[in-house]
Amino acid sequence: MTTSKGVSFFENLKQRKEGISMISTVRDQVKNKSTNIDCICGDEMEIFYSTWAYHYKVGNDERVLNVLNAPFYKCKSCHEVVEDLLLYGDVEKAIEEEIFIRLNKRQNIPDEMDFSDFIKQ
Ligand SMILES: [Zn+2]
Repeated sequence: MTTSKGVSFFENLKQRKEGISMISTVRDQVKNKSTNIDCICGDEMEIFYSTWAYHYKVGNDERVLNVLNAPFYKCKSCHEVVEDLLLYGDVEKAIEEEIFIRLNKRQNIPDEMDFSDFIKQ
């Protein structure tokens, strides 16, 4: 683990009003997430947790931030995996902003974070 214990990935965002609102947008979406999603095959999908990768560039450097324990939908029958595009759109916005602030402050950017950083206050 490159993330230090007890420190949120969003230490900068949480100091800004618009940052707090970006994080709570994601938290609210997770809270209101529908659990009754139908797969194209007709069977039900259930929530499962996996790693979601955020790709970004610093200059010409391609980098990846792995978000651990991120929620996805998976079909019980055909195992099709679906990502909630609306949710990850907002996840991207928050991560992008935190990385932007960290780059400006010349702070270290970890290789991974936990999705729970969106949920805990
Ligand atoms: Zn299916």
